[in-house]
Order: sequence, then structure tokens, then C-alpha cells
Amino acid sequence: MSDRTNTQHVVPVNDVIAHDTSGEPCVCGPTTELVSGPDGDAYIVTHHSLDGREGAEYWRGVSERIIRGNLSAGSDGEDRPDE
Ligand SMILES: [Zn+2]
Repeated sequence: MSDRTNTQHVVPVNDVIAHDTSGEPCVCGPTTELVSGPDGDAYIVTHHSLDGREGAEYWRGVSERIIRGNLSAGSDGEDRPDE
């Protein structure tokens, strides 16, 4: 298996389970998508929190900001599904 593409895992912090980011299938059923960034293409593996606190659309926004290299906690302009 040749994998020259960077892989980034987006994992919920302090989730109720431990997420597997070693490349093995994770129990949360993460979503994998190929995203083009400044350093080339990267696979974004978005893990889902199993306590139901975030929606998938929130994590999609987080992963896009990581690829752009400007992830910052608490930045404005993000619509969160829950307040
Ligand atoms: Zn996971």
C-alpha cells in the first residue's frame, strides 16, 4: 500500500471513548474526505464525538480551518449547532 498523501485526524477532545488514529477503523465511523491545501492534498479523517455534543457540520468547519493552517480556538464566524 502506497500512501504519500498526508492524513489529518480531527478528534473530539475529552470524548467518552478513545479514538483510533493509527489508521485502523475507528468505532465512531469517521468521515474521510480528500481536501486540497497549501501543502498539497490531505485526507481529513473526521472523528465523531459519541456523546452527541457536536454536529458533523461543526467538525467539517474545523477540519477545513486546520488545512488552511489558521485553526484558532474560539474564532468567530462559526455557527455552532448548539450553544
Ligand atoms: Zn473516532
